[in-house]
Amino acid sequence: MLRAIDLCKSYQNDEGQSIRVLQNCSLDVEEGQIIAIMGSSGSGKSTLLHLLGGIDTPDSGTIHWSDTNITAISSKRVDALRNQWMGFIFQFHHLLADFTILDNVSLPLLIGGMTEKEARDQSRELLTELGLEHRLSHLPKQCSGGEQQRAAIARAFIHRPNLILADEPTGNLDETTSNEVLHVLLTRARETKTTCVMVTHDVDIANQCDKIYELQEGVLR
Ligand code: ADP
Ligand code: MG
Repeated sequence: MLRAIDLCKSYQNDEGQSIRVLQNCSLDVEEGQIIAIMGSSGSGKSTLLHLLGGIDTPDSGTIHWSDTNITAISSKRVDALRNQWMGFIFQFHHLLADFTILDNVSLPLLIGGMTEKEARDQSRELLTELGLEHRLSHLPKQCSGGEQQRAAIARAFIHRPNLILADEPTGNLDETTSNEVLHVLLTRARETKTTCVMVTHDVDIANQCDKIYELQEGVLR
């Protein structure tokens, strides 16, 4: 359901030299699978995830979301498809600071055209399932780091995406809170049979996934 073939990506450094970050990276993810991508800092994990999510484009190679080759369609169509098809969870929560937790989670549904009442009802229900019923009307800054990431998980799952991409979703949390947040993410993905690609440097977390890829010197295996 997600397939990448021979992705290459380079960046220009400050001296104008081209630095190869990804070299012929290929990956195949089946429906419902949970995949871990590991690799040291700077190895290109975020770059790869951004390509898979259609946020950035490869220099060469192809990416398929189900039957759609997203490297062959306009960025506008990629954006539209991403909104309905995909959920993102980042290292830092990226919740909107001026909006309550409930509004942050409702937003993807409102963008998708749902009525405000229905969007709020569904968001309240999911936030309650994730243990955040006491945080609905709080702003992100009034919540703990773990609560903020759980809200980010709710926002990523609320529109029932086919695919979740998570970039070190617990990168800035202490170990206990990390495990708790991760448990929430993995449980949700398993229960809803949502395909998930997760970047992590934590071996214990990777071992709970169905398959582990390692990114090393631009090569994915
Ligand atoms: P990781 O997520 O594994 O830590 P990244 O994908 O963020 O690695 O970065 C991989 C390499 O690409 C790093 O050397 C980083 O400095 C470089 N890089 C990432 N994004 C850019 C960019 N927009 N411009 C130039 N270099 C970049
Ligand atoms: Mg990164």
